[in-house]
Amino acid sequence: MNTAYKNFIKRSEEISFDLLHRKTIQFNMGKYDAAVERGMKRYKDIEKAKAHIAAKKRKALQNLDETLLTFEKNAIENGIHVHWAVDTKEALTHVNHIVRQKNAKKIVKMKSMTTEELEFNEFFEHENIEVIETDLGEFIVQVAGEKPYHIVTPAMHKSKKDVNELFHRLYDMDINSTAEEMTEFVRQLLRKKFTEADIGITGANFIVADIGGIATTENEGNGIMSASFPKTHIVLAGIEKVIPSMNDLAAFWPTLSVHGTGQAITVYNTIYTGARKQTEDFGPEEMHVILIDNKRSEILQEPFQSDSLACIRCGACLNACPVYRNIGGYTYESTYSGPIGSVLAPFYQGFDISGHLSYACTICGKCTEVCPEKIDLHMLLLHNRQKDVEELGNKGFFAFVMTVYQFFSLHASLFGIGMSNIKNFFARTFAKNGFGKKRSLPEFKEPFRNQFKKRKK
Ligand code: SF4
Repeated sequence: MNTAYKNFIKRSEEISFDLLHRKTIQFNMGKYDAAVERGMKRYKDIEKAKAHIAAKKRKALQNLDETLLTFEKNAIENGIHVHWAVDTKEALTHVNHIVRQKNAKKIVKMKSMTTEELEFNEFFEHENIEVIETDLGEFIVQVAGEKPYHIVTPAMHKSKKDVNELFHRLYDMDINSTAEEMTEFVRQLLRKKFTEADIGITGANFIVADIGGIATTENEGNGIMSASFPKTHIVLAGIEKVIPSMNDLAAFWPTLSVHGTGQAITVYNTIYTGARKQTEDFGPEEMHVILIDNKRSEILQEPFQSDSLACIRCGACLNACPVYRNIGGYTYESTYSGPIGSVLAPFYQGFDISGHLSYACTICGKCTEVCPEKIDLHMLLLHNRQKDVEELGNKGFFAFVMTVYQFFSLHASLFGIGMSNIKNFFARTFAKNGFGKKRSLPEFKEPFRNQFKKRKK
């Protein structure tokens, strides 16, 4: 068992029995569940909408190279500077180059999981550049010194009381401030940062090939301000975000929002097609798009797991997952958590580091059921397990145990021959914490085949 796996087991046990954490998550997830249920009712046939966007995305992925080149050509025609980055290092080097060129000191940033992948904030803070998260939830976790807990709602694990205490400690705010007062405080603080920043960073919900544009969707408008107040706008986007046409947004945007938050449509939906034109009064002077591979091409080669690239990061599978709901976002120790995170993390971090996440699943299939992209998530986790065994587990003690297990499985009658004591010895000695420290394994008594015979009689 490697260190990451040990930590995972330890942390899972702690967090599952943290009643305060459970209460906060259940409260926030409960609100989400109710909103999504209401949102789904607006659709005459939600399965049809899902099938439509799932097919569009698969088509884009099948022709990924072509679709990306179409985007690049159209984006360059729009005056956008397009850069390609094979990994996180190259992506950060591109941004750093622009930062140095502009002599930038301050960066404002929209919420973006791709930048989390790059550890963007840590990199630039190390370079003495101030990076300010401008999404309210991201801002809260940033000033708390934490990472996003959830891919859509980064501060889901915090109650209002937690934020009251945080803002009281950091900004000397009244401990009994209302949610509106705290939001207004952050709004005023950020307004100033937007006007001072040299560079604005956004992610991309969709890279729109036919118009050479970037589409984003958000609820607070902080993304629009990050992109339009500073003189330079940089987009960091994973290459799998590409869709063929602007017309596709009519289906993607509402399907994403109803699965992400239950909203019919998110409040601000924006398409960026370049810097300010000569006829325009506002907007950035330069726009850059950095297209990031970072293992995506490798995942694309996988016969089954390649389908995970169709993910539009709605977060629905996290909210549906009984494991995520119990162990929370931080236990995964990877950028992406929940079912989609468990599929992707071993490819990003290596099966030796996070292969165990593929086993953090009951195979209940709820994630697959809710996924708007119709990704067969629980089956992909089974494929990950197979890969994990093939790559890493097929040797040493594991191989020995499996050989013994195989022998008994193929000679099932041996299980029943006066072996209860031996089985109980092995269970007590080697698997006594199989269900965790708080639950004990039941004793083996009578072999199942004997019980079955008796019952049949
Ligand atoms: S895998 Fe599906 S449900 Fe999960 S975040 Fe991606 S699109 Fe949403």
